[in-house]
Formats: sequence, structure tokens, C-alpha cells
Amino acid sequence: MKTYDVIVIGGGPGGYAAAVRSSKWGLNTILIEKDALGGTCVNWGCVPTKAMLKYAGNMFIQSRLKTYDFLYQNVPNDYGLIQRKSFEIAARQSQRVKNLVSNSNITLREGEAALLSANEVEIRPSGEKISGEYIVLAPGTVARKIPGVVYDDDTIITVREAFNFANAPSSVVVIGSGATGLEFTTLWKRFGGTVTVLEALPRILPHEDEDISREAKEHLQHSGIRVLTGVKVESVVKHPEGVAVTYSDAAGKETLVVEKVLASIGIVPNVANLGLERAGVAATPRGIEINDKMQTNVPNIYAVGDVTAKLALGAVAVVQGNIAADAIAGKKTEKFEYDNVPHCVYSEVEVASAGLTEKKARELGYQVRTSLQPLRAGGSTSTLDEDGGFIKLVVDARSERLLGAHLIGHKAIELIGGPAALIASGNTVPQSEEVLLAF
Ligand SMILES: Cc1cc2nc3c(=O)[nH]c(=O)nc-3n(C[C@H](O)[C@H](O)[C@H](O)COP(=O)(O)OP(=O)(O)OC[C@H]3O[C@@H](n4cnc5c(N)ncnc54)[C@H](O)[C@@H]3O)c2cc1C
Repeated sequence: MKTYDVIVIGGGPGGYAAAVRSSKWGLNTILIEKDALGGTCVNWGCVPTKAMLKYAGNMFIQSRLKTYDFLYQNVPNDYGLIQRKSFEIAARQSQRVKNLVSNSNITLREGEAALLSANEVEIRPSGEKISGEYIVLAPGTVARKIPGVVYDDDTIITVREAFNFANAPSSVVVIGSGATGLEFTTLWKRFGGTVTVLEALPRILPHEDEDISREAKEHLQHSGIRVLTGVKVESVVKHPEGVAVTYSDAAGKETLVVEKVLASIGIVPNVANLGLERAGVAATPRGIEINDKMQTNVPNIYAVGDVTAKLALGAVAVVQGNIAADAIAGKKTEKFEYDNVPHCVYSEVEVASAGLTEKKARELGYQVRTSLQPLRAGGSTSTLDEDGGFIKLVVDARSERLLGAHLIGHKAIELIGGPAALIASGNTVPQSEEVLLAF
């Protein structure tokens, strides 16, 4: 049986980062991927969605220029074209990851890995067995499904199948109003679809600050997207004209018949066939439990990325992968502050935030002070013909420390980097006022 210093299972951002860093520290490393290198982020997530949304955004801007009688070149309203383009971009990015891995002196195996014990792994279907001093688990997640609903991968789908159509659906119900649900909502709306968003909780973007949720809902509705909150989905079934979705809310029960239904209601750890029990690795239904070094309850087994249920973002997976490799190599590691990570939503209206929401800051016992300024008050955004949007700051009134920044509106995603850095470095409001934004 071949022996390695480090076996990494899963070639998404968490796994390939852990493998590259381990190899950099001189550890004999093998990376096993069952599908495409780059994982969800590169192949079915961050990269293809943003490629499609960028194109749809350009189409939108062109249509606005037309209303000002500017000369404009017509961007073709061709969904199939942008779908193919986004796949090309994803494939190119996946190849870049493959080049990085092969240039980093890492052994790469295609196949599905399963733990046989705390040190042994089997690769399927070849049946090859290998052993490792350390193992890093980075298998990612799969979409959470609505119990009792029969998915057909065409009309009733999860996010994974949402890239499959060559034409934008003419009518859709999106169940779930997190970042991913709202990104597809935006894409399909911009291609002329009628989109209804059904959210079980009282507000959309439930992880964001409450003021952001309120403004985002108003903006989406203003742009013609129907948004219903506090809704219980009763059934989703095939119908001669598409799919029938029955939901109930305070107003009673209603059935919508649409071409497609996307259920974007979260993720669950992709561990069904991983053999965690054979190695004794502890996990909850949310994910594999880890400490600050990304170590599981089994000392030589680490877990990184979405499977750890910390913060499901590509960049977070990379940092976790690096920390795991550093810890395995015996290097000093820092505690990673998940709260400080900036995150964004590429929806009809851009949302970006970093640090604590007002509610979370209060729960943690801070004496909270907030300020809310329209985005157009800033130099850069005032040059745009855009009225909506604001920046909300959450501050600890005792120390004047900046705890959170929440932006909604045009260029919010571009702007969040500055406040995120100030929050992560523990700056106070007076210190932050000395940092100017160039435009
Ligand atoms: C539509 C969508 C849009 C997104 N947009 C963004 C964004 O804009 N920004 C952002 O930061 N994040 C975004 N994300 C989240 C991001 O994709 C994930 O956080 C990131 O991919 C997690 O990386 P990971 O390495 O944990 O897992 P994954 O990327 O899921 O990779 C896991 C890999 O492991 C492989 N694997 C699983 N089990 C095995 C096994 N037993 N043997 C071998 N291989 C195995 C899988 O095939 C997969 O390639 C988005 C996600 C989605 C779905």
C-alpha cells in the first residue's frame, strides 16, 4: 500500500489549497477528486454564476443607456450564448487549478475516496488503497432538498441543475431567498422571466442585517420580482403546463403554475459515502466538527471548506485549507475570525457586508450605535444616476470600534473591501475617518 504524508479528499478551493500548501511545506501529498478540479466554486458556483450575471448586467446597462438616447451597441439577448460562455470560463479556470496542482508536485487521482480507517483511504472505482499520516477532508456539500418533493433535474431543480438550460425560463418560482436564490432570480428576471420568490422566514436574505433585508425586498419588488415572505410551501408537483407550487401564508392558500421551480434552501454536508464512522470522525447534520486548526476529533484528520458549516464561501475554504496544511506541517496558525469575512450578493441590487449585524452585536453585549447614510452621499457613487441604497455602520459606543458595515446599492460589492479591512484590523471610527476612498 502506497503511503503519503497527506491525503486530501476533494479538489475544490478548500482541498486544492490544503494540497498546494502541504506540498509547499515539503509533505508528500496526494489529492483525490471525483469530478472536476476547482469543485463547486469553479464549475457549478461562483465562477459560472458571476460570468452569467456579468453578461446580464451589461445587457441591463446597455438597455439603460438606450433610455438616455446614448449611442449603444446592442448586446444580444442570448441566454444560450452566455450559458456556453460561462461553461468555457469555468473549464478554463478548472484547467488553471489542474496546472497549479501538477506544478506543485502533488499526486492527483481521479476517483471517489472513502475512509477505511483513520489512516487508510480507498479510491473508487479502481479499488486502490493508500495510507496517510494525515488526511484532509474537503468534500463540500450538496443541495438541501425539500422532503417529499420529486426533483426531475429539469423542471423541479436544485442549484446544481440551474446551469443546464439553453433558454432562460419564462416563469419561475424560486424557493429560498439567500444569496444563491436571489442571484438566479436576478439572472432570469433580466432575461425577461416572471420570477416569484417564496421565503419561509419573515424576511429575505435572513443572514444579513435587518435594514438590508427590508431595502433589498423593496428594491426587488420595485424591479418587478414578486417576493413573498413568511410563506409555507405545501407542495411542488408536476403539472400539464409545467410545475404547480402550492403555498400558504397569512392570506390563505395559493397555487402558482410555472415553467420551472428552483429550490435554493441551503446545503448539507457531502459525507454520505465518505466512511466517517469507520474513522470515528464526529459530525452533526450540519457538518464535520473542527477546532481552530481545522482538526476533527480524530487528531490526524482535518476538515476544511463548506463541509465544516462555518461560512460557505470559496475564499473561506482556501483560508481553512491553508490553516490545515500549516497545522499539519507544525507551523504556527492564527485563529480565523469568520465574522470579519466580507460577503456579497450579486442580486438585482448589490448587497455586501462585513462584520457584525446590529442584532448580533447586541446579542454579544456591545453597546451598539449605528449610522445609516445614503450611498449617493459618497463621492464615487454620487456620479451615478442611482438613488437607492445605503451604508449602515455598526459601532461599539464604548470603544468607538467599528463592528460591522452593511451596504446595499450600486457598487456595494466594490466598496466593501475598505470597511472590511478596517473592521478586521480593529479600527475605531476616528481612525477610519482618516482613511479616504479614491474615486
Ligand atoms: C451557485 C453558487 C454560487 C456561489 N457563489 C459564490 C461566490 O460568489 N463567492 C464565494 O466565495 N462562494 C460562492 N459559492 C460557494 C462556494 O462555491 C463554496 O463555498 C466553495 O466551493 C466551497 O469549497 P469546498 O472546497 O469546501 O467544496 P467544493 O467546492 O464543493 O469542492 C468539493 C469537491 O470535492 C469533491 N468530492 C466530494 N466528495 C469526494 C470524494 N469522496 N472523493 C473525491 N472527491 C470528492 C467534489 O467533486 C468537489 O469537486 C457559491 C456556491 C454556489 C452553489
